[in-house]
Amino acid sequence: MPPHEPTATISCPEPDRDALPTFTGYRNLLGLIRQLSSLGGCAQPIRLEGQRTEIDASTGEILRELKSKELPAGHLLVRCGNRRATRCPSCAELYRQDTYHLIAAGLRGGKNIPDQIAAHPRVFATLNAPSYGPVHGRRVNGSARCRCGRTHTKGDPLLGTPLDPEWYDYTGAVLWNAHAPALWARFMLHLRRTIAATAGLPQRLLHKIVRVSYAKVAEYQQRGLIHFHAVIRLDGPTGPYTPPPAWAPPELLADAIRITTGTASIRRSLQRTRTGGLTHLPTKTRASERRIALPTECCHSLKEHRERQNKERETAASAWRDSGLVFTTPTGGPLDPANLTRRFGSFLGRTGLRRIRFHDLRHSTATLLLEQGVDLVVIKELLGHAHIGVTAGVYAHVRLRLQRQAIDTLNAALSPDEDATDAPASAIVH
Ligand SMILES: [Zn+2]
Ligand SMILES: [Zn+2]
Repeated sequence: MPPHEPTATISCPEPDRDALPTFTGYRNLLGLIRQLSSLGGCAQPIRLEGQRTEIDASTGEILRELKSKELPAGHLLVRCGNRRATRCPSCAELYRQDTYHLIAAGLRGGKNIPDQIAAHPRVFATLNAPSYGPVHGRRVNGSARCRCGRTHTKGDPLLGTPLDPEWYDYTGAVLWNAHAPALWARFMLHLRRTIAATAGLPQRLLHKIVRVSYAKVAEYQQRGLIHFHAVIRLDGPTGPYTPPPAWAPPELLADAIRITTGTASIRRSLQRTRTGGLTHLPTKTRASERRIALPTECCHSLKEHRERQNKERETAASAWRDSGLVFTTPTGGPLDPANLTRRFGSFLGRTGLRRIRFHDLRHSTATLLLEQGVDLVVIKELLGHAHIGVTAGVYAHVRLRLQRQAIDTLNAALSPDEDATDAPASAIVH
């Protein structure tokens, strides 16, 4: 609305059938048609009342005057601008087209965006909601049949509704939708942090070198959950007008998105105390409280685990205790560390693997990573050690073995080659 519009009231009355005779007897019908056609088919135009006067500030001369009462419709009519096709098909379509051009310009240039934008790294990402229980669907494992045994046609009102409403996690689903915008904000915050960490930059300096921008669409799935489709793009410090730095190719952006979405946060520990039984306690040190990236394989396993847990919840029925934990007993309670140790021991026995403590898996991970040449600093953060000295001390034997191998490689490279004595002396040290 122009700033010099002095008064405006908005009213949106119900359609008045009795007004039809007044309408047909209207004198300025052509003017009315012109006014209505300027709305482009808006189904719910907003009626504005008031007046607007433009005055030449130097002479005091009235340049233009508009009084809503004097307009053919008796009101100033403006488009409602609603994005929902169910409310106003015309305005929703206009919004859709505007959005299309806006996003297209951000991908290939045009509309004051340089064409070079097409070379900036961008990723099309879909961020989906977790499962809150099985729902009726159209495609499961490639067949058209739903898990309920029937084949649903398109538009079937059953689609997206829970298979078993009694055990569907409605609370989780409602909380997901309520927190979806905040989750998106968190995702963007951590994505910027991940990119800064990859580049070895403090987060506050990131925007001076690279900008992360996005266009996102929140969409309701058939099961009523919000999910996001987004184009995420990297630009230089002034946005679309400067290229991003060479160290930030599309792969870096895709990896950063994967790292940001597939992470686990370590916030508390569960321990058996003498007085309180199984109790949630703070982590050992501040460094132990951390976020770690999960391998894709692990994310898949966690998804499958959730499905299994949903089944356990169905089986447990009213005996289920909702603890909000990822790994639980068949009735939803926390796992007792002693039981975990026993189950892990029998698992090792069954598979014929060497007996180690559950805690030793940490060392196996760290050793494997060290052997792959992963930096000690990264391993320190992954394990949650407070100081790198601790990590270096614990894995001194591994590092010694790796050093031995490196020296042997060097030794082999420097020794005269028995097979090709004429070859020039050269050494390749990895
Ligand atoms: Zn409209
Ligand atoms: Zn079904």
